[in-house]
Amino acid sequence: MIPIVIIGSGIAGLACARRLADEGLSPVVLDKGRGIGGRVATRRAGDLQFDHGAQYVTAQDARFAAVLHGLETKGALADWPDAKARPRSVGTPGMSAIAKALGAGLDIRQGVQVARIVADGAAWALHLGDSILHAARVVVTVPAPQVAGLLGADHPLTAAVAGVRLAPCLTLMAAIDAPAPFASRQDRDDALTWIARDNSKPARPQGPALWVAQAGEAFSLTHLEQDPTAIAAAMLPLLCDRLGVTTDRVTHAAAHRWRYARVTQPLGQPFLTDAGGTLHLGGDWCIGPRVEAAWISGTAIADDILARG
Ligand SMILES: Cc1cc2nc3c(=O)[nH]c(=O)nc-3n(C[C@H](O)[C@H](O)[C@H](O)COP(=O)(O)OP(=O)(O)OC[C@H]3O[C@@H](n4cnc5c(N)ncnc54)[C@H](O)[C@@H]3O)c2cc1C
Repeated sequence: MIPIVIIGSGIAGLACARRLADEGLSPVVLDKGRGIGGRVATRRAGDLQFDHGAQYVTAQDARFAAVLHGLETKGALADWPDAKARPRSVGTPGMSAIAKALGAGLDIRQGVQVARIVADGAAWALHLGDSILHAARVVVTVPAPQVAGLLGADHPLTAAVAGVRLAPCLTLMAAIDAPAPFASRQDRDDALTWIARDNSKPARPQGPALWVAQAGEAFSLTHLEQDPTAIAAAMLPLLCDRLGVTTDRVTHAAAHRWRYARVTQPLGQPFLTDAGGTLHLGGDWCIGPRVEAAWISGTAIADDILARG
């Protein structure tokens, strides 16, 4: 019997585990993905690297600001101010460094997909495909639309998250051997709502310009079910057009589909818990579409668990 299992090694799961571990508890974090961080991610392709999930972090909450300061002290974070000199920070040498630093020393098991969570007496049975793990407490930090698959359609907490919405985001990663007209650009009215030269961020590999472009919600919904090659083929001409370059300057292109990328309708409270207080649900979707929101939610769950003793 594991005392506390946290499902998801995104920022919410890591924040929860970190806070519990700092208080002497030993949570186990399970995640189906290969690398920790969830949507805070860095993709490598040979010498190239791209932050294909969250682009930067900002902090309004004093506790989260202190965490970012600590990451900066460890060399895992640096400033990347925008064109108007407004503060934003990025992981170094990639956004995934933030997750790696938050998760250092924790018991994190990647490549473990939880298929189902079922009440089993006073405990929880986590179905992992070919095995079952028992836990006294479970913290679920998967995107809200995936809660029903874990708890079942008739669970009261499934009903509680039914109004939460996350929009998809298709993301293009491209290396283009041509001068860069800007470092980053946001245009909510364009099909490509965000374009950034990834290696304009600090501590990145130099060489050809490495671009990350994110499609807006309408474009992402239209092309959502296409395979990554077709998505890249659809987005690349748009990126080249916005940069004023011809496609023959492109030396690398790949796409990633984030099915649940940005919270468009949050829950409006930092977490949910069941009647017995042994099952918690949280994530950015509780509060809003930001890394900071995920951290606040995960930390609030840990605070609640600690308060319950
Ligand atoms: C393209 C994009 C750009 C963004 N840009 C920014 C930005 O610039 N600034 C900003 O602040 N925020 C940004 N965000 C939002 C930010 O990334 C998220 O708010 C935050 O990372 C969410 O963290 P989380 O822990 O709540 O969820 P996630 O990061 O989604 O973590 C959930 C984890 O659960 C795991 N999981 C799911 N189901 C299971 C299962 N059944 N079993 C085991 N594991 C499971 C997943 O593998 C994942 O690792 C962006 C997001 C995207 C996609």
